[in-house]
Amino acid sequence: MPIRSEKLALQLENPFKLSYGATTIRENVLLHLDKAIGEAAVVPYYGETPERIIGYFESLPPLPDPFFLEDALDALPPSESAAARAAADIALHDLWGKQLDQPLYKLWGLNPAHAPQNSFTVAMADDETSYRERLRSAQKYPLIKLKLGSGTPETDLDLVRIAREELPNRLCVDANGAWTAEQGIKAIPLLAEIGVIFIEQPVAKEDFEGWRDLKTHLPAHIPPLIADESVQGVESVPHLMGLVDGINIKLAKCGGLRPARQMIALARAYGMQVMIGCMIETSVAITAAAHLAPLADYADLDGNLLITNDPYRGVKIENERIVLPDAPGLGVERCVE
Ligand code: MG
Repeated sequence: MPIRSEKLALQLENPFKLSYGATTIRENVLLHLDKAIGEAAVVPYYGETPERIIGYFESLPPLPDPFFLEDALDALPPSESAAARAAADIALHDLWGKQLDQPLYKLWGLNPAHAPQNSFTVAMADDETSYRERLRSAQKYPLIKLKLGSGTPETDLDLVRIAREELPNRLCVDANGAWTAEQGIKAIPLLAEIGVIFIEQPVAKEDFEGWRDLKTHLPAHIPPLIADESVQGVESVPHLMGLVDGINIKLAKCGGLRPARQMIALARAYGMQVMIGCMIETSVAITAAAHLAPLADYADLDGNLLITNDPYRGVKIENERIVLPDAPGLGVERCVE
């Protein structure tokens, strides 16, 4: 099976300022596997590099006929890089769908009408005026996710209050692990009063005691607390049982569509909610994740909307809904060479 790697420099529409730092360009790697495609997000704060990903692609052995998808996935070598593995898993699913001449969601028996509303992320800005501008330009998106982690919970709450002043839209927040449990216990009830619909990763990635403190000390009727950085692959889900209300599943964290589906099943068994999220990615990886959206409570698939040079077309957002392409496999199409 012919294999080719392709590096892409993705231009971000706005410098993406997070609690980790700011970036304006991201370099992802595409995997062309015969007539199929996969994508690996290079997430700098995960210590990822394009070279490591390309090294993995070049190490792939000849793969069995992807008609037997499970066999082909089992034949993928292990990798330190979940994103590289995800690219190979996505490409094999694409090839499988193309061979069977059906879109992935149909092969899984999923009804796209059950996909939740998609959220759109508004990053922090350098000053209040540009933040207000950024919010106004996101007005057309009914569900807006505010990135927090501005320094203190007080300045974070100000960001949410500014958003509430500017927009009537539904709001949710992602603190990206910026708070201590003690700060979260004070801030979260105030966010609930503002009407925020969920709070993602209030405490640091490794702060499992913090999650426990939040569960113990917060009142029962607060918005759901969703783990993002605290959850990675399938094996990380059981550690969060009873500590969080939901998990944010991303293909680049867990290693692809098969582990993502396993995580969804586990989360449901533990009574957790499910969010399908993404990294800064083109329509290749975003569309792959979108095929799982009918299984999720929340979809946060806007990585392709945050870049200006997406070479692919795939999933679309129409009338606030996720619209999956009706072509075989992922159903994505190259629109720029
Ligand atoms: Mg997050």
